[in-house]
Amino acid sequence: ENLIRQGIKDDLFTVYYQPKVDIASGKLVSMEALVRFEHPQKGIVSPGQFIPLAEQTGQIIEIGEQVLRKACADTKRWVNQGLFSGRVAVNISAKQFELPDLDDRINKILSDVGLSPLHLECEITEGTLMESPENGLQMMTRLRERGIHLALDDFGTGYSSLAYLKRFPLNTLKIDKAFITDLPANTDDAAIASAIIGLAANLNLLTIAEGVETAEQLAFLKEHDCQIIQGFLLDRPLWPDQLENRLKAEQQRQEATKISP
Ligand code: C2E
Ligand code: CA
Ligand code: CA
Repeated sequence: ENLIRQGIKDDLFTVYYQPKVDIASGKLVSMEALVRFEHPQKGIVSPGQFIPLAEQTGQIIEIGEQVLRKACADTKRWVNQGLFSGRVAVNISAKQFELPDLDDRINKILSDVGLSPLHLECEITEGTLMESPENGLQMMTRLRERGIHLALDDFGTGYSSLAYLKRFPLNTLKIDKAFITDLPANTDDAAIASAIIGLAANLNLLTIAEGVETAEQLAFLKEHDCQIIQGFLLDRPLWPDQLENRLKAEQQRQEATKISP
């Protein structure tokens, strides 16, 4: 807890970005901001090691705002450079989601940075939403009214009520990597993954598969009409300057296709 407090004060929380790629076009359409704690002695600490504690102590609120601010500032730069026109996805913790003024806080950060809400997506886990679905519904509606997109994260691991799923103003369902890991050999997971994609399609939602590591997994997902993938097969989480190079390479590739006959 003391280390985290120091980290917040000394600005030691940094952000990596993992690309999300459209399967049909192969284009980078979005990226997820993933926090790291860069400790001067301990090195780079993963969120799994500090988020649960930060969640308990409430420090996650401060960390989450720093992440949001950095993700918005980086994205603003890439948009201004003409390198990116999609949305950056930021994870919103349960504690943040409980804040009655979350929408105002996000709006304040967006306007400080000068980024349009049309470049932001919030990832909220199933568990977070189902803690208080009626309040969640209201906050989600307010965020959507501002033009922010919403993804339901870790889908399939919590206890989602399908009645709520229909009412939540979501844009995207993210299939949890637990169901992706053993594709396509595990027939239960294959059935679950394809059912989630079908459900999402019927509710007019996009589906993202996370944790895609193999070409076989990708082939399965493509065949079952999943639209977007994220995972080590295509990209690891990247430092901001690495992501920038990735965006530049992508732009050059597109320009090359434009001029080729
Ligand atoms: P998540 O939201 O489900 O994020 C995906 C995690 O899967 C990331 O771990 C990512 O690095 C990892 N991953 C991506 N592709 C692959 C793959 O192909 N294979 C495998 N095995 N793993 C893959 P990471 O960065 O360690 O983050 C872990 C969790 O910490 C996240 O899970 C999220 O719940 C939380 N987290 C990360 N950043 C933030 C943040 O800024 N705020 C909050 N509240 N939570 C965060
Ligand atoms: Ca996430
Ligand atoms: Ca997950």
